[in-house]
Amino acid sequence: MQRELVVIGAGAAGLMAATVAARRGAPVLLLEKNRRAGLKILISGGGRCNLTTTREGEDLELQYGQRRGRFLRHALRSFPPAALRAHVERLGVPLHEEDLEKVFPVSRRAGDVLAALLDDAARAGVEIAYESPMLGLEALAEGFAIRTPDATIHARYVILATGGLSYPKTGATGDGQRAAAGLGHTITPLLPALAPLALEEPWLMALAGLVLDAELSVADPQGRVLVRRRRPLLITHRGLSGPAAMDVSGAVEELAGTGTLRIDLVPDLPREALEASLLERAAQSGRRSVPQALPAQLPERLRQALCRRHGAFELSCAELRREQRRALVSELKGLVLPVQRSLGFAHAEVTRGGVALDEVEPRTMASRVRPGLFLCGELLDVDGPIGGFNFQAAFATGFLAGRLGAR
Ligand SMILES: Cc1cc2nc3c(=O)[nH]c(=O)nc-3n(C[C@H](O)[C@H](O)[C@H](O)COP(=O)(O)OP(=O)(O)OC[C@H]3O[C@@H](n4cnc5c(N)ncnc54)[C@H](O)[C@@H]3O)c2cc1C
Repeated sequence: MQRELVVIGAGAAGLMAATVAARRGAPVLLLEKNRRAGLKILISGGGRCNLTTTREGEDLELQYGQRRGRFLRHALRSFPPAALRAHVERLGVPLHEEDLEKVFPVSRRAGDVLAALLDDAARAGVEIAYESPMLGLEALAEGFAIRTPDATIHARYVILATGGLSYPKTGATGDGQRAAAGLGHTITPLLPALAPLALEEPWLMALAGLVLDAELSVADPQGRVLVRRRRPLLITHRGLSGPAAMDVSGAVEELAGTGTLRIDLVPDLPREALEASLLERAAQSGRRSVPQALPAQLPERLRQALCRRHGAFELSCAELRREQRRALVSELKGLVLPVQRSLGFAHAEVTRGGVALDEVEPRTMASRVRPGLFLCGELLDVDGPIGGFNFQAAFATGFLAGRLGAR
């Protein structure tokens, strides 16, 4: 079977790439290994699909980090969040903004976004073959041979959009990375990102269910801070979750147990102000208990647990020794936890690592290794924090890939 263009993987990136290519006149076959397209769209954002963000320009690019942001610059400028929003609204799905600059469908249904994208692909003339996994991809003198269970398909152009390794039950099993490597691409180490952090600290796990407004940072053994995030932090019985913990999990995994996780439990209060307020309380009314004197924005159970760790639970402010006060303030401003890993790919919303970015042309998503091959979405070595950044990157790189090199 001879085809002009075969897109492999019907997730956000592949659907966008296939639709753009079909609208530009290319006959497109889109291969999907599952019975349905876009499973990750359906489960995203707790079934509500945090489609994109309201951030833009350089600020948007920096969310992906310096190197990945620089690679994505052209894609994010060609198809920015405003263009993605306009596109999805034009397809009949009204969107609105929620906390933390997140954009969701007003209906709160991810299924509406997926249905609209599938309708659009069908209208553009994309032919989708379900339950059609790519089993092998080979470069020929001209074009490619794609092996599927039923046939070997020949194509002049191939767009690989098979996603990352996270949530393997959605179809993300690394086939695309293996195929790209087989064609000569370098695959950077694949690590879980946006995953809860595993922790065994009984005193903290006893506080499971607490949500804190904290700032987390991860530093390498030389003390260089790789990532710093202020977002809601959730304590669970298995460790730490919520956007703050998930956003730093990629850095924890990269450092493979050699990093240091620090939590500023009171990011708005400088250390000196904390010390001063404890001293003041001791002077004013020495009988006040230490847990009561700690910042009121912290849940009582956490204040009590911190005091217990420093033998200060039953002390009054006047009884608190200088070393105890200093140790307490240090933990409030920088609680160091022995976090070595996340809960892994089964719980990770995204994959860090993928096809090396210096082997992909950032203006077109064309492979610099194999002419006729284009790569897009999470398959690439790009990932962003929670907040719609991963769909934004997938749609924007898919948008460029679908142009098949036209600028
Ligand atoms: C639980 C969860 C919630 C998330 N929530 C959000 C959110 O709210 N906002 C956000 O921005 N991001 C979110 N993400 C991340 C986001 O879903 C992904 O970054 C995005 O879907 C990547 O798109 P993609 O098209 O590159 O890959 P995918 O969506 O993974 O699509 C790849 C497709 O390729 C198919 N495929 C794989 N191998 C083959 C093969 N050999 N042959 C044929 N087909 C194949 C797969 O079945 C799949 O359909 C979430 C992820 C998870 C797991």
